[in-house]
Amino acid sequence: MAAPRILIIGPPGAGKGTQSSNLVSEYGIDHITTGDALRANKDMDLSHLDTDRDTPRAYMEAGDLVPDEVVNEIVDTALSNADGFVLDGYPRNTDQAEELESMTGLDVILSLSVSREELIDRLTGRRVCDDCGENYHVEFDQPETEGVCDECGGELIQRDDDTRDAVENRLDVFDEETQPVIDHYEGRDEFVAIDGEGTPADVWTEIKSTVDEHTN
Ligand SMILES: [Zn+2]
Repeated sequence: MAAPRILIIGPPGAGKGTQSSNLVSEYGIDHITTGDALRANKDMDLSHLDTDRDTPRAYMEAGDLVPDEVVNEIVDTALSNADGFVLDGYPRNTDQAEELESMTGLDVILSLSVSREELIDRLTGRRVCDDCGENYHVEFDQPETEGVCDECGGELIQRDDDTRDAVENRLDVFDEETQPVIDHYEGRDEFVAIDGEGTPADVWTEIKSTVDEHTN
């Protein structure tokens, strides 16, 4: 069996990170995210592209958004260096979905769906230790003492990204930009909708059998 080429797609809070880690351990494939790919290729020479700056690092150091054509190039490089992968966080819009078609084939497209109400509960309940960065959840992963980190005794805080307004906004952006990507893939043989509302273990069982079915 060839190493699977997997795209995982879903809104923030759907469990893409957790399930991607499971896929990496199970199949020995690379987890490719736009952020990681960018960090790994900071000094890639962009002189063959018609860009304002010569390297991704130059954009990052200037605090500028890395343009789409650079992101595409970096994802392409990461995919061609991988022997099997789970791609997570790309394509974010339909333009990127079209780019991806020219880069690689996919064995399976996993679309994790979770209701908006549940996503809001998951995301707004996140707490992180201000000192060591350990993650908690007010409902699903409570510390021994409310507001205090089990690991280091630090204070647990809510990140700005996880406030109600910020979460609603992140979900709106997903609906507007990335839902059309899901619509674009729906109906293909590789496309599988996964119910992401169960426990992480239940969702994983479904994902594993789906991937095995599509790669055997
Ligand atoms: Zn801590």
